[in-house]
Amino acid sequence: MKDLKLAAARPDGTRTVVDVLGVRVGEGLVVIAGPCSVESEEQTVRTAIAVKEGGAQMLRGGAFKPRTSPYAFQGMGLKGLKILDKAKRETGLPIVTEVIDTRDVSWVGEYADVLQIGARNMQNFSLLREVGKSGKPILLKRGMHSTVEEWLNCAEYILAEGNDKVILCERGIRTFETYTRNTLDLSAVQAVRRESHLPVLVDPSHGTGIRSMVDPMSLAALVAGADGLEIEVHVCPESALSDKDQQLTPAQFSRLMERLRRLEAFMEELGPADPDMASGGAAASSPGGGSDGAGRGATGGGKSGEPGSR
Ligand code: PEP
Ligand code: MN
Repeated sequence: MKDLKLAAARPDGTRTVVDVLGVRVGEGLVVIAGPCSVESEEQTVRTAIAVKEGGAQMLRGGAFKPRTSPYAFQGMGLKGLKILDKAKRETGLPIVTEVIDTRDVSWVGEYADVLQIGARNMQNFSLLREVGKSGKPILLKRGMHSTVEEWLNCAEYILAEGNDKVILCERGIRTFETYTRNTLDLSAVQAVRRESHLPVLVDPSHGTGIRSMVDPMSLAALVAGADGLEIEVHVCPESALSDKDQQLTPAQFSRLMERLRRLEAFMEELGPADPDMASGGAAASSPGGGSDGAGRGATGGGKSGEPGSR
């Protein structure tokens, strides 16, 4: 990927860890959970307490919702951000929330610990520049019509503004398949790990759109090398104002977290893939580097510009 200067994998294989109020993204599994949308103080605070109890390290919740229809619930805006702030004070969880407009970046940044750039805005270059200037940690979702190369170039826009706190998130792409809401591209996790030093998460909620698929695809994402997950959880999914079919109940989330922790321990025991496959460059084992003992190192190890090489 010839145009990547700052996002490209480093020759020594070291990888970036983004610190969010002490939560280290890129160093062991990090789980961000919470409702699709902030709908009320009660719904958000109750969900925040529940996901914290389940083991989430950060709280997500949209106050600005980029909806397909202009008549659908658009989010609570400033009121929603204030509710997220309350939830943060109750639980201590850092807040991840989406910003959709360049004019909002600085004041949304006063409430957000991580600014999320949604799939629909991945290539909104002025927004990328603005969040780059903010210096806040940025969660950059993959556009639903975007290649890995386009996605990494969008990370480059943020990095080029002097902001090195970029976290990527695979959330599914549009394909001919319509059974699922999107096609969750787990191979993109390995592609990112080969081509970049940036941490990469997976969002199995938007990636599938189907509640019962969130658990298996979360486990699959961990095996595929994800540094973490972003999962939608709602105290009462059937009454949710957005994405009701994909949000987990708190009990389902807690069970999933338990299974993830057990899988993580098992992968530690399993060890990394064939060390020869993980030694060809970006994946080389080094301090904080590609192969992390949990089997999450890139398995390809080809040189940049050789996609698919083994
Ligand atoms: C979200 O996470 O709230 C969201 C809208 O996701 P995406 O941008 O991936 O569709
Ligand atoms: Mn959603």
